[in-house]
Amino acid sequence: MPKKPPFIAGNWKMNLTLPEARKLAESIAKAATGLSEAEIVLAPPFTALGEVKKALEGSSVRLAAQNLFWEEKGAFTGEVSAPMLKDAGCQYVIIGHSERRQYFGERDAGVNKKTQAALKSGVSPIVCIGETLAERERGETMDVISRQIQGGLEGIGAGDFESLVIAYEPVWAIGTGKTATPGQAEEVHAHIREKLASWYGIGPAECAIILYGGSVKPANSFALLSEKNIDGFLVGGASLEAESFIQITREAIRAHKEKK
Ligand code: PEP
Repeated sequence: MPKKPPFIAGNWKMNLTLPEARKLAESIAKAATGLSEAEIVLAPPFTALGEVKKALEGSSVRLAAQNLFWEEKGAFTGEVSAPMLKDAGCQYVIIGHSERRQYFGERDAGVNKKTQAALKSGVSPIVCIGETLAERERGETMDVISRQIQGGLEGIGAGDFESLVIAYEPVWAIGTGKTATPGQAEEVHAHIREKLASWYGIGPAECAIILYGGSVKPANSFALLSEKNIDGFLVGGASLEAESFIQITREAIRAHKEKK
């Protein structure tokens, strides 16, 4: 059995009031006692981090934020820093999600600064990359992915891969109901691992956790996670319901056990 446990992260995006967040986190924390073979991570909006942290106390479920700013403190109205996230109990932070790139103009250079800031504060970055539909149709997928990893991870040390997570999320599959086929996803995941091996060496490349994201559901999670280079999922819509998120986790554990 491969060493790394399947890694299942729920990105709640800009959803849920405090009572709703508490209820969902409590249900997942309760179910997680039977899902100890997976690393389960929840990324609520900033407003609900404290509430979800309380709900997860005593469980193995980890807390993540959805974004951060690279400066440590100061006059940056509306921003939240890596030390603040650490203080709030976050073990992970999502960086460079395609919605941040699309609606807030984030670029690889900023993703890089955020990734460095997170690592410096001991918060593990979940760095998102992925091509748009137009880029895929023009046959540019692998170039886009290579550029995003190179730009986003510039200056990152080989040792950082013990805590760094990469999420491959084809933009055309996020929130659209269109999932990449297991073959399409695996092709890109294998390319990411190969690139990491050529830049950082085989050890860090094998150590890197590479998630797939884009309309993951209970029905497609077994086949996706059965692929060699898919180590887990970043789940959006289906993470807003305890039952579907738990079912995805169960299917991922089942696929992981059967993997050579
Ligand atoms: C995401 O937001 O990272 C995501 C993959 O969303 P969805 O699962 O809804 O496609």
